Amino acid sequence: MNDAKIRLCVTQALGDGQTIPLTQDQAHYLFGVMRLKIGARVLLFNGVDGEYLAEVTQAAKRKGVLTCLKQTRLLQMPPDLWLLFAPIKKARTDFIVEKAAEMGAAQIMPVQTRYTNSDRIRQDRLQAHALEAAEQCGGTYVPKVTDIRKLDVVLADWPADRQLIFCDEALIGAKEALLEHSDTQKWAILIGPEGGFSVEERAKLSALPFVTKISLGPRILRADTAAVAALTLWQSTLGDWG
Ligand code: SAM
Repeated sequence: MNDAKIRLCVTQALGDGQTIPLTQDQAHYLFGVMRLKIGARVLLFNGVDGEYLAEVTQAAKRKGVLTCLKQTRLLQMPPDLWLLFAPIKKARTDFIVEKAAEMGAAQIMPVQTRYTNSDRIRQDRLQAHALEAAEQCGGTYVPKVTDIRKLDVVLADWPADRQLIFCDEALIGAKEALLEHSDTQKWAILIGPEGGFSVEERAKLSALPFVTKISLGPRILRADTAAVAALTLWQSTLGDWG
């Protein structure tokens, strides 16, 4: 019976009988915080091999070993959706990354726009947030969080087969600017910073052939709210919620 409640993302390959040595942090979490003992069950995933039920076979203060018993789920890839967003205050940026991971973004890309407050992010910290979100939400895939890049640079080598949904606050309330069904398979969403997009950015984005401009309703949303709203709109219209 799969009575495991804890899910852990590991880096090692998973397979029946595979032994997984734990890092110090993982051992501390399982044995120090969660008080697991030998024989306890844990669910493991690594973003490649799906999910496995594993058993604690060695447990010590700062180390331990889990042994894979059986595969419980196949790898479930999220839709091919990227989220581009301009970082805002730290806690709200963490929130955007966490929600994007929970809501099925395959890649999360901080971009620097004209009015973006910060030109630096802690990519390792944001990647850890995405990993924790995947552990919590039952995902078997961990979205990649990229380092911050200038929006212009990202647009300059944009893949021709990927549609970019530009959430344009200037379209506030515009009825016609809704997300249309489309047979495009590769998508991305772009959310601007607290200060919105500049006039030049808006003109440049509007002229790009791969851009679809949309409104997110009649009110100005905070960037983190807009990210969740756009992800919800996309998933319910074109994604894997149907
Ligand atoms: N400072 C801008 C203003 O007052 O017009 C608001 C920017 S808003 C806080 C941050 C981002 O969320 C925007 O750049 C846009 O990408 C998105 N957004 C917020 N409300 C929106 C709406 N009603 N329609 C489309 N996008 C919206």
